[in-house]
Amino acid sequence: MSDQFLSADEANRLGALLDESKHIIVTCHVSPDGDAMGAVLAFSHYLWRKGKDAVPVVPNIFPDFLKWMPGADQVRVYEKHEAEVEPVVAAADLVVCLDFNSPDRLLGLKKPVLALDVPKVMIDHHLDPVDFCEWSVSRQDMSSTCELLFRILVQLDGLEPMSYEEAVCLYTGMMTDTGCFSYNSNRSDIYYIVGQLLTKGIDKDKIYRNVFYSYSAERFRLLGYMLYVKLENFPEYNASLMTMTRKEQKMFSHKKGDTEGFVNIPLQIQGARLSVFLREDTERPVIRVSLRSVDDFPCNAMAAEFFNGGGHLNAAGGELSCGMENAVELVCKALKKYAPLLKGK
Ligand code: 5GP
Ligand code: MN
Repeated sequence: MSDQFLSADEANRLGALLDESKHIIVTCHVSPDGDAMGAVLAFSHYLWRKGKDAVPVVPNIFPDFLKWMPGADQVRVYEKHEAEVEPVVAAADLVVCLDFNSPDRLLGLKKPVLALDVPKVMIDHHLDPVDFCEWSVSRQDMSSTCELLFRILVQLDGLEPMSYEEAVCLYTGMMTDTGCFSYNSNRSDIYYIVGQLLTKGIDKDKIYRNVFYSYSAERFRLLGYMLYVKLENFPEYNASLMTMTRKEQKMFSHKKGDTEGFVNIPLQIQGARLSVFLREDTERPVIRVSLRSVDDFPCNAMAAEFFNGGGHLNAAGGELSCGMENAVELVCKALKKYAPLLKGK
């Protein structure tokens, strides 16, 4: 694996931006997942180690199953404490944007961040980045932002000084964004990096349990209900659909993050190529759309064409501001339109 991931010029410019800054905001996309939190916390630990006043700020709450992460108690949630977080953001002399490609993904935090007349840095692996940062690296070939960040931190500072906390956070992002190394994870570099992270003393088995063995009993009952009552299979399209209303979420005391991973499960049906999950948001009057696929079915194209969204080839999402019935109709339309690709080989 090459140590020279960024060009010398890119690395120097990033190094200079970090050197020149004292109060750095480190942020990520709305509804942070393991990769977003992993990247935000790993970068924050790195900056703290360098003596910087870094503040991890996320647009809205992150799931309970990531609360164990080192540094999670330092994270400011903008949506929850706007008045307190705004002056902290306003005092920043650099903003580091991790795991997202457009200011729209910052939700309410977009306004105070864009209002800041200070340099911004973007490190991301999503398609079609929006040009809003002075310095950016956008690499869609990376399995996770954490993989990308590992390479950048090693290039800037070497592996030797990397801390245990940084390694734990980077591993968490790599593990969660690849479904525990079950997709997007065929490059040997990924395991070379995992090997290097293990030299920092991380317990990868414990990290796995921290993330995945932390569900409430209600979450399992909700999953059982979804699979037994709500799962609709369309064998003619090698696709399936699950819908979840606000009422159903209340019935099972749904907490943020409880439905994480639900959309992947129907892909285990033999021959399945696409899984669609529609969930009424509990905070805003919208339906969140999640798409997952296998092989070459382009979830991101479908999300962009039908669901006001985007994402990766095999994992994409979007949002609809209609009712559930219309959303289901739209899914049926999308399945029809994409039938040739869904029928596959
Ligand atoms: P999820 O289904 O976990 O919400 O999202 C899966 C992936 O789809 C995310 O990692 C992100 O790349 C993309 N995605 C989700 N929601 C949106 C959205 O509203 N807009 C765009 N452009 N991408 C999204
Ligand atoms: Mn990611």
